[in-house]
Amino acid sequence: MLELEQKLERRRAQNLYRRRQVLESPQGPLVTVGGRRLLAFCSNDYLGLAADPRVVRAFQAGAERYGVGAGASHLVSGHSVAHQRLEEELAAFMGAPRALLFSTGYMANLAVAGALVGRRGSVYEDKLNHASLLDAARLSGAAVKRYRHGDLAQLRARLEQDSGDKLILSDGVFSMDGDLAPLPRLAALAREHGARLLVDEAHGLGVLGERGRGSLEALGVAPGPPVVVMGTLGKALGVFGAFVAGEEALVETLIQEGRTYIYTTALPPAVAEAARASLRLVRDEPWRREKLLQLVERFRAGAGQLGLALGESATPIQPVILGEAGRALAASRHLYERGLLVTAIRPPTVPAGTARLRITFSASHEPEHVDRLLAALDGLPGK
Ligand code: PMP
Repeated sequence: MLELEQKLERRRAQNLYRRRQVLESPQGPLVTVGGRRLLAFCSNDYLGLAADPRVVRAFQAGAERYGVGAGASHLVSGHSVAHQRLEEELAAFMGAPRALLFSTGYMANLAVAGALVGRRGSVYEDKLNHASLLDAARLSGAAVKRYRHGDLAQLRARLEQDSGDKLILSDGVFSMDGDLAPLPRLAALAREHGARLLVDEAHGLGVLGERGRGSLEALGVAPGPPVVVMGTLGKALGVFGAFVAGEEALVETLIQEGRTYIYTTALPPAVAEAARASLRLVRDEPWRREKLLQLVERFRAGAGQLGLALGESATPIQPVILGEAGRALAASRHLYERGLLVTAIRPPTVPAGTARLRITFSASHEPEHVDRLLAALDGLPGK
């Protein structure tokens, strides 16, 4: 016990102790925390759909029709017509033959790696990949090889050394930096080396591409082998859950062999109904994507004038890198005192020395919200 307390104490001393904010309102540009209304720039509700009344009504109607719990895993008796329809609609949306629902993106990533590479295979990871992709590789039992962020020469050298099953894993939009993976070249490398490429569209789906399919669409990479797509429903779609889209044989393999698909309770069917409503809005209301990207441009232009150092991101994820964890915490506190909620992101979520404010935008923000944020950032001590 003492040991745990000492470890926690050490964490506190290093400014790495994590605390949760207790939200008392729905997600939205304004949230309530501790009775205070705060202007928030840290959710992944990129399109402002998490509390959309049409999504809420679909969820309520789904609960009326199907009850609350799915009651079983998909392969036993938990796969409802709501799940089935959502899978069909997701496949059509993504332009893929099939889609398979998962309870979370974390689990979907684990399933793909587990099903596509055996113990004698190799998994290749960009160093800035999301934790779920790193864990997916580890759990697959394959040899894990990491390459420097975006360094395709290093990836190529690693691919050339190996034989056996090969799987490249990459965020499409990097979750803490907002930059895009070089997907056309990654897909070409995968093809050249007989590898598969899993693209995690957690932060691209709904946001990028003409139809909102994500970073692959934005960069002109066709879905289908060697590319496997994982998308999440808890971010731009504002709901919960995830899916993998791809060819028939891939989806059937995941149903047969994906442990995180087989051995877990299906999502509540009402969640699937809410996701169906949300997917229709993603399809039918492209103004959300357009507005969101305009807000991002407004922010970047304003931040440039203030001399704030921003990363190479044209997506709604705009990190302000501050260095040591204590600086990021102080900056977050500074904003909080001025009525803004922006969480500090610290190691090990990001590499040591790159603690940051991860600012995210939503189509539910207005230009004046961006201006308020810029004004508060202007006053950051030691900016
Ligand atoms: N991949 C990335 C890039 C993510 O940012 C996240 C969520 N933070 C996930 C996967 C996991 O998705 P989920 O929240 O649905 O488990």
